[in-house]
Amino acid sequence: MTPAVYLDIDGVLNGRGSRGPDVISDDPVQRARWAMAPSRVRLVDDLCLRAGASVVVSSSWRLAWSWADLRDALRAGGLRARVLGVTSPDIEDRWLAIEADVTHAPLRPWVALDDERPPDRWHLRDRVVVTDWDAGGITGDDVDRALEVLCAGS
Ligand SMILES: [Mg+2]
Repeated sequence: MTPAVYLDIDGVLNGRGSRGPDVISDDPVQRARWAMAPSRVRLVDDLCLRAGASVVVSSSWRLAWSWADLRDALRAGGLRARVLGVTSPDIEDRWLAIEADVTHAPLRPWVALDDERPPDRWHLRDRVVVTDWDAGGITGDDVDRALEVLCAGS
C-alpha cells in the first residue's frame, strides 16, 4: 500500500527566512507559490521519492481551498510527488482529521509533517515529525526522522 505523508504547509514548506516567490497574478493558485519555498518542497519530494509515498494535505489550507486547487498550488510550487487528496475539511481539528483518514486505510504506513506539536494525549503522536518554523520549515534531519517513522509502520 502506498505510504502517505500527511502534509502541513505553513511551517513545513515555509518558515523564517524561507518562502517562495511573490507572484503577481489573478490566479490564486499561482499567488500561493509564496508559501512553497523551493528548497523545502524538494525535501518533501525527496522523502516521497525515497519512501514511494504520496501526499495527503492535512494543513488548515484544506479548510479554505478545494483539494484540486491545493494540488495545483503544490505543483506550481514544484512538488512532483503524487497528491492523493486532503484530510476531511469537515473536521476542523487537524489531528482528528488525520485520525479519521488513517482509519480508512489501517494498513497504510504513514507519517505526518507539521510544525504544531500534537496533543500529549493523542495516541498517534509518535507518527508526527514536528518541524520548526524558525528553522525555515522541514530540514534534512526531519526527512530522516520521517523515513524512520514510515519504516517502523510498514
Ligand atoms: Mg503549520
